Amino acid sequence: MEELATILKENFQKEKRNKITFLTGAGLSAASGIPTYRSTDGIWVKGTKFHKPEEFGTFSYFKGHQDEVWQFNLFRKGMFEKAAPNDSHKLLAKIEQKIPEEFSIITQNIDGLHQRGGSSGNKVYEIHGNMRTVRCALECSKAVYLYPNDIKIDHIDQELTDTDWKKLACPKCGGLLRPNILWFDEYYNERLYKVDSTLRIAKNTGILVVIGTSGSTSLPLSLIQQTLKYGGYVLDINLEDNNITKLLQDKKRALTYRMTSDAFLNEFYSILDENKY
Ligand SMILES: [Zn+2]
Repeated sequence: MEELATILKENFQKEKRNKITFLTGAGLSAASGIPTYRSTDGIWVKGTKFHKPEEFGTFSYFKGHQDEVWQFNLFRKGMFEKAAPNDSHKLLAKIEQKIPEEFSIITQNIDGLHQRGGSSGNKVYEIHGNMRTVRCALECSKAVYLYPNDIKIDHIDQELTDTDWKKLACPKCGGLLRPNILWFDEYYNERLYKVDSTLRIAKNTGILVVIGTSGSTSLPLSLIQQTLKYGGYVLDINLEDNNITKLLQDKKRALTYRMTSDAFLNEFYSILDENKY
């Protein structure tokens, strides 16, 4: 980890483009018992029907199957709430306390575990949305509302009641609400998913640490490219090869660490602590 200590030292001597950003994905929450959306157990099965996430997680599927999609999302929300933040979430919160000025998290996760693990809400950019809020599926306004918190789906095949459906009506137009998450057939934007803000952060990042993501969606890859383009380092923490490994091949300021996120973040924290950053 000597190299990491050197990179960090160099970064703290810089006056600009010295942000330290953690880009996190599903792998980080796996230790909290949350299956990745793309893994086999992440695909929802209703009755005998199997869905591919790319088919199920779309606005067009929602339009035709609102009951199934809401059931799935409410079940998943319950699963997130029962899960506890793991050591990596907590270590990131400790790192933030050491370097609040430089620190940001950009996450693909919608589980809210960074915030529950102690990270400040304004330091966490949720580029795929979140499960705390909903919005009008008809887009009658730009309003984002908190989830109606008294709807509970405990089993994956539990149907919603009429009362539940009433709670899922848009307060403004009476149409149906939808989860405030990015579906596969939708595009990133600044208002809901902070695409411009995160690209700006990536540009000003001296060290981008990529954890638990395989780079299967476009914005994370653009963020990595952006950091490299403006002279920052990209550190990929991953136990196996993936799209990011390919992207980082032959790049001068790219390093791969074949270790768990807990082990890496522990080392990272120790270096900050020992050097009193
Ligand atoms: Zn509405």
